[in-house]
Amino acid sequence: MRRLRRCKIIATIGPASAKEETLRALHRAGADVFRINMSHASHDAMREQVRMIRAVQAESGRPIGILLDLQGPKLRIGLFRDRAVKLKPGQTFTLDSNPEPGDETRVCLPHPEILKALAPGHTLLVDDGKVRLYVVEAEADRAVARVDVAGEISNRKGVSLPDTEIPVSPMTDKDRADLEAGLAAGVDWVAVSFVQRPDDVAEVKKLARGRAAVMSKIEKPQAIARLEEIVEISDGLMVARGDLGVEMPLEKVPGLQKRISRISRRLGKPVVVATQMLESMINSPVPTRAEVSDVATAVFEGADAVMLSAESAAGHYPVEAVATMNRIAEEVERDAYYRSIINAQRTAPEATGADAIAIAARNVVETLDLKAIVAWTASGATALRIARERPVAPVLALTPYPETAARLAIAWGVHALVTKDAHDIDDMTRRAAKFAYREGFAFVGDRIITVAGVPFGTPGATNMVRIDFVDEAAAAAAKAHCATLEKEPAD
Ligand code: PEP
Repeated sequence: MRRLRRCKIIATIGPASAKEETLRALHRAGADVFRINMSHASHDAMREQVRMIRAVQAESGRPIGILLDLQGPKLRIGLFRDRAVKLKPGQTFTLDSNPEPGDETRVCLPHPEILKALAPGHTLLVDDGKVRLYVVEAEADRAVARVDVAGEISNRKGVSLPDTEIPVSPMTDKDRADLEAGLAAGVDWVAVSFVQRPDDVAEVKKLARGRAAVMSKIEKPQAIARLEEIVEISDGLMVARGDLGVEMPLEKVPGLQKRISRISRRLGKPVVVATQMLESMINSPVPTRAEVSDVATAVFEGADAVMLSAESAAGHYPVEAVATMNRIAEEVERDAYYRSIINAQRTAPEATGADAIAIAARNVVETLDLKAIVAWTASGATALRIARERPVAPVLALTPYPETAARLAIAWGVHALVTKDAHDIDDMTRRAAKFAYREGFAFVGDRIITVAGVPFGTPGATNMVRIDFVDEAAAAAAKAHCATLEKEPAD
């Protein structure tokens, strides 16, 4: 199965989709990666979802990425005596460490480190910003705030603090337990919520020890302030527009989406655009014009992936939502303006062999109208540097590691395959041609370019490009070897 688009699709799993037959239908409709949201899934449910995805993967023969999204430190107020209170404009309201149920004058904020970090002038947003308060007085265990936007607040509503740098790691005890359980289950990517500093990402990378790639969700102003450093240390980025639009003015989100996408592209890190992309499809089989335009904008921007949240997790039309994204991405990538917009975002290469080779491959493909770039890659890094160039031809990533193939499922334009490592240059080019033919990227008489590091098996040694014809022998080998993802019959 090959996709007719370069931008990938991520579908969040939830009650509407956590069945093997639905996951299969979502994959067929276009989902390349599944997201398991640990704000809602138990460990048992997560493990069962991983099992079902791997079963769909084995059946389809295509690598599927699994993204484990950690909940992060969701701050919540305590309880009220009468469940809820109505706050009036201009009144004062106190947040304190007293666990007694609250009333119209006060409520507990059961996070002592947050109470300590609050300072006069800081904003408090309750219930996704529906109620807004400003701190006017702050002590170590209480903060008095004035109500700016009034409304009802009720038991355990979430609180966002856009101005307050939270002096603790975003990894809660629950996140650590979820991370270990996810890594043991074999997820490919881990998304870290509420990243503020590069150290937050470094901590998760240390815990993951290479067992999964680490994606930073950009959803806090503190992360925007240190964006470049965070992109540098992360393996991938998510424009988490839900919380970003609570913590920052909504009208800033489109510009920030562009900024995060551009920096990620410059540094060669996959970037995902997320949240409310086809929101109305939770209840309707067709999206709004504005939603179609929003998905199209992300595809025109060259996003590696666009993501569905509640649409595929809890909506009435999960498969239709994926199919709709698939159609939008295919159409945008056929649009006459697409190539010029993508090319205009190209940035200077780094002074490395891998980048020099990636640019050479892109240029050769354009000059000679080659049909595919075949990259032999162990860690996936070579394929990502080629994808960073957003070449006209698709990138076939050949790797001996199933986990590399599954991680690359998120990357723009990369069609990954698992195959045993090549033993010499002849074997490498022969099998490159065979796979290009077998996967439907090239016909007999077409030419492809192969990129690799020689000697084989040396990570980071990308140093070779070769142009070859797909010949009758490659076609015959492809027909003889209908290899599956896990097993390739002996040559
Ligand atoms: C978001 O805030 O946009 C997001 C993707 O995170 P979550 O779904 O965990 O709120």
